[in-house]
Amino acid sequence: MQELTHFINGAHVAGTSGRFADVFNPATGEVQAKVPLASAAEMDHAVQVAAAAQPAWAAVNPQRRARVMMKFVDLLNRDMDKLAEALSREHGKTLPDAAGDVQRGLEVVEYCIGAPHLLKGEYTDSAGPGIDMYSMRQALGVTAGITPFNFPAMIPMWMFAPAIVCGNAFILKPSERDPSVPLMLAELMEEAGLPKGILQVVNGDKEAVDAILYHDVIQSVGFVGSTPIAEYIYGTGCAQGKRVQCFGGAKNHMIIMPDADMDQAADALVGAGYGAAGERCMAISVAVPVGDETADRLIEKLVPRIEALKVGPYTAGKDVDYGPVVTAAAKANIEALVQTGIDQGAELVVDGRNYSMQGYEDGFFVGPHLFDRATKDMDIYQKEIFGPVLTCVRAQNYEEAIGLAMDHEYGNGTAIFTRDGDAARDFANRINIGMVGINVPIPVPLAYHTFGGWKKSVFGDLNQHGPDAFKFYTRTKTVTARWPSGIKEGGEFSIPVME
Ligand code: NAD
Repeated sequence: MQELTHFINGAHVAGTSGRFADVFNPATGEVQAKVPLASAAEMDHAVQVAAAAQPAWAAVNPQRRARVMMKFVDLLNRDMDKLAEALSREHGKTLPDAAGDVQRGLEVVEYCIGAPHLLKGEYTDSAGPGIDMYSMRQALGVTAGITPFNFPAMIPMWMFAPAIVCGNAFILKPSERDPSVPLMLAELMEEAGLPKGILQVVNGDKEAVDAILYHDVIQSVGFVGSTPIAEYIYGTGCAQGKRVQCFGGAKNHMIIMPDADMDQAADALVGAGYGAAGERCMAISVAVPVGDETADRLIEKLVPRIEALKVGPYTAGKDVDYGPVVTAAAKANIEALVQTGIDQGAELVVDGRNYSMQGYEDGFFVGPHLFDRATKDMDIYQKEIFGPVLTCVRAQNYEEAIGLAMDHEYGNGTAIFTRDGDAARDFANRINIGMVGINVPIPVPLAYHTFGGWKKSVFGDLNQHGPDAFKFYTRTKTVTARWPSGIKEGGEFSIPVME
């Protein structure tokens, strides 16, 4: 049995807490590795190493820090297949989807190569007589991030690339479900020229997370995961005086107007609803067709597409649409929610229960499900299922459809499919959700924009990546300078004003 490690001070180190978690191969159901779960003492050791290394890294000029990112991009491309394979083996997603996970992180690293420009600061010449004023962006010090299982490459890179290029040290606490890729990323950063101690991976569970939250030296905490944990981390971290940003769960609605191209809408829904087995925070989990006639046409187009989906292990390469879910517990949770849908009266149009694959009977596969005629009060509508289950809620008109999305507690992403520019424009303006697609089902912004939901999908003020990341990972310091030659009249006792 492979025993995974932490990555501290530039080296793989064995866990010393004596506690481990199982890492599964979701396709076979086998335990393929054990990951150590750090104690508070192990976390403290990593923090001390980071604190000792960080000032020298912050003093490296931003161009040189950016060059580490350039080299890192090369190495990610060099090792893309290896990273994708390791990612699929622990997560279960298909190989092309795993390569996409690495690629979307890589694009944030590319953006970070612009750090010398992005960190330039502001300057006012002659802000007063003989007075100059300038603002600089300084690194926070030791920063930390806690990441979910569903994007084990992209989300760590969303956090550590901007944190590090800004001159911080970063401690990553990845998901204990799929920790191998984060460890590989840390190795590659070091190969790219990053000094030891600036990026460390400390594996663990709540104990490691609490050690981060209560550590005096750690200045900021980034979190992506489920909403209850996001809420806990935000509240606890803020109470400890840290800068915190937390991104939570989702229930993304796609509204299908009567004038939409129904083939395009059905194709989009199948990809966005079932891709990665629905384990994406930007997955579409609710379809809202407007009018019964639209709903009937949509269901007619969806059913054959869903029934044709190919579910299988990543080893089948491009021949698979989606793989297993991450754990047996995730599978059981999805199945339980599907049962509530049936019990509460939704119509199960495509039944993915009891899905089994020859040779992979112990894998965590879940067949595709489609519910029609679900209503607002049902659990399958209110809760995040995070599985291959699409729920259709029929709306009688546009106002009812937009109202559904607006009233839902989550506000990560949403989409409208229509040929009507006026409806699309109204939707984009009024909707209280952070990321909006118009005839685009998964509107994940590119690296140079920012990513973030609204409502219970986020806790904090700044988004991920793009310009917001450079604000989150730096503090502004403003200097007002007057040189002695400017002081000729003796002391001043009233507040200076610009007349
Ligand atoms: P999770 O909340 O279970 O775990 C996320 C992280 O928190 C992991 O590192 C885990 O070890 C840690 N954690 C778990 N329980 C904890 C506890 N009690 N105390 C402290 N830390 C704890 O989430 P997950 O299952 O890994 O990921 C799926 C969730 O993440 C979904 O809800 C999904 O919508 C969400 N997600 C959101 C975004 C976004 O940007 N909004 C992106 C990806 C995933």
